[in-house]
Amino acid sequence: MTNADKGRERNWKDRADEGSSAQTDDSDSQAEFIDAISSNVLGVLEKERFFSRLDDLFSPIDPLIERAKCGHSFDRSIDVLRDLGMDSDDVEDVLAVLRSRGGCCDCEVLYNVADESRLKSEYWKARPQKLNPAF
Ligand SMILES: [Zn+2]
Repeated sequence: MTNADKGRERNWKDRADEGSSAQTDDSDSQAEFIDAISSNVLGVLEKERFFSRLDDLFSPIDPLIERAKCGHSFDRSIDVLRDLGMDSDDVEDVLAVLRSRGGCCDCEVLYNVADESRLKSEYWKARPQKLNPAF
């Protein structure tokens, strides 16, 4: 891990306010870095209600609000993260963590990364025969 990465790891650790749950490692690999910041990044996202904000866009409670469509990009996620006051370095870290968790676009973030989302429950309600115990 580079010194810059260490600084960024600390940044997420402080913001998640979770103490020392993430392990620091001397490895240079990006994967180690993602691993190290992952739980703190997800903690910050939960705290800032990132997933429910994204869910509100893709599965609005109000049926009159038009649903966002996923463009196989992180456009909406980036909008929300920017709205939360994150700079481009923060956003890059968050997207790296989301990708490592199987979220490679806005809708996959809600399906694969969020603990729960209306979008995901709609999906599973529509496909009870495919119910996956992993969820
Ligand atoms: Zn998508």
